Amino acid sequence: MASDLTAANPRPNFIRTIIDENLAAGKHHTIATRFPPEPNGYLHLGHAKSICLNFGLAADYRGTCNLRFDDTNPEKESAEYEHTIAEDVRWLGYSWEDRYYHASDYFEQLYGFAVQLIKNDCAYVDSLSANDIRAFRGSLTEPGRDSPYRSRTVAANLELFERMRAGEFADGAHVLRAKIDMGAGNVNMRDPTLYRIRHAVHHRTGSTWHIYPMYDYTHCISDALEGITHSLCTLEFEDHRPLYDWVLDKLQLPCHPQQIEFARLEVNYTITSKRKLHALVTEGLVESWDDPRLPTLKGLRRRGYTPTAIREFCERVGLTKKQTVIDMTALETCVRDDLDVSAPRAMSVLDPLKVVIEDYPDDTIEMLDAANHPKEQAFGVRQIPFARELFIERDDFMEDPPKKFHRLAPGKEVRLRYGYLITCREVLKDSAGRIVELRCTHDPASRGGHAPDGRQVKGTIHWVAAPTAIATEFRLYDRLFTIPDPGARDDFREYLNPDSKIVACGFVEPSLASLPLDKPVQFERLGYFCVDPDSRPGKPVFNRTVTLRDTWAKVQSSKE
Ligand code: ATP
Ligand code: MG
Repeated sequence: MASDLTAANPRPNFIRTIIDENLAAGKHHTIATRFPPEPNGYLHLGHAKSICLNFGLAADYRGTCNLRFDDTNPEKESAEYEHTIAEDVRWLGYSWEDRYYHASDYFEQLYGFAVQLIKNDCAYVDSLSANDIRAFRGSLTEPGRDSPYRSRTVAANLELFERMRAGEFADGAHVLRAKIDMGAGNVNMRDPTLYRIRHAVHHRTGSTWHIYPMYDYTHCISDALEGITHSLCTLEFEDHRPLYDWVLDKLQLPCHPQQIEFARLEVNYTITSKRKLHALVTEGLVESWDDPRLPTLKGLRRRGYTPTAIREFCERVGLTKKQTVIDMTALETCVRDDLDVSAPRAMSVLDPLKVVIEDYPDDTIEMLDAANHPKEQAFGVRQIPFARELFIERDDFMEDPPKKFHRLAPGKEVRLRYGYLITCREVLKDSAGRIVELRCTHDPASRGGHAPDGRQVKGTIHWVAAPTAIATEFRLYDRLFTIPDPGARDDFREYLNPDSKIVACGFVEPSLASLPLDKPVQFERLGYFCVDPDSRPGKPVFNRTVTLRDTWAKVQSSKE
């Protein structure tokens, strides 16, 4: 993938072409977009694509992008969701400045427009049951039939609609419908519902309203009232576009935004359906909305994904009209690329094996220089303690190694990163035969890890000095699902990966005792990590964001 295609140097796409043409033709002088989430759940990667697209285009064209909550379903929505969504948009790096809106800001105007439609004989109150409305709608192959209430007089409709607003009727007793064409080929145009009765408390308007407008009716009018030029939405709304245009045409609003559809972002091995994410959280299949295994922005953030990586990912996947599924490795590559540059290095041991350097004094702690970044000198150098007792990674030792094993083995010499060359002299085991300790010697002339006589020592391993090591919990994550397309299966729950979270108890070097949240670190050879909010003073918890290389592809191909 071409890496010069960053947000600063965007890839051309069909929406940019349309905007460029509109601007060249003088249709607009600038652009206005919006991101319109429903406050009924947490934002996920798919939403990130829409956020980056809408806010990104506005920034590139020096236009504006509004944040607008599409809050027309009071039973499912809450102020908490709204708050988290706004926080996530800001975290991704975007600002709506003073353009923070709600569909509910327009409830009174929306009502007025509905009255206008009724007066123009473009809308009527229907009193069929929900079941009958469905039956009368017909199917893809059969036209619908007119409701017997379709011919109500304007006066009767106005009176009923007003009484619906006043709360005189039970939920479902009546609906307001657009009067379009029950024979239309496009089912969305068969007299779609504009308003329904809901005796529900809304998180912003309380119990002021007993009727709530439908999405299709609300969205186009909200766009028009805000002076949106390009209303970007996902492909499933293509068939709704005629209705979007119909409402605006009938109301003759001065602004008529252009709806343009693009393919949703789908990533394999995960799900980006709000309903299914809800199920995972409420059924306890993951721990919370910010579980680091989820593709929610809160989960990705807790996992250690950076806004830069997510924005770059959205840019790299590009924009099309054709639905595709993006490989999870593309996302992982983006975060690796970003963290490689931005994360300082440090050492930790996930699965500790004790090493005693027999010829090193036991009352000495020596400070050694360690570079914080292999390429970026600006990261500086830190001091790491070295001592007689150390921890190394258990799998960096093999008692009976194969030929190409360049790490520690009996009689073999290995380099301790930034430390000394050590040779394994003896292996101590417990009564069950498990290795509990290695006795080693060191070459005092190799301080810093350099062989004094230029002899070849192939292996370099990481380590932590035992006396100053900080006991740490590491949470190692893998894909949440075992198959690429869990969302397409009857029950995605059956494909949850039982090893998606593994907890390891090890050690980090003391410089990591109090790393702030949101600060990445690369533990040498192990991957990129970040501090989890579950950390307590003296007891850090680290989440692995991603391994250093794509180990997953390797495991898969070795299985084949
Ligand atoms: P719902 O079924 O609740 O409507 P939704 O995922 O569409 O779910 P919204 O809050 O309505 O959620 O989405 C806000 C915006 O994000 C919409 O413009 C929607 O088109 C866009 N969006 C949602 N999912 C994706 C996705 N996977 N890829 C790109 N854009 C998306
Ligand atoms: Mg939606």
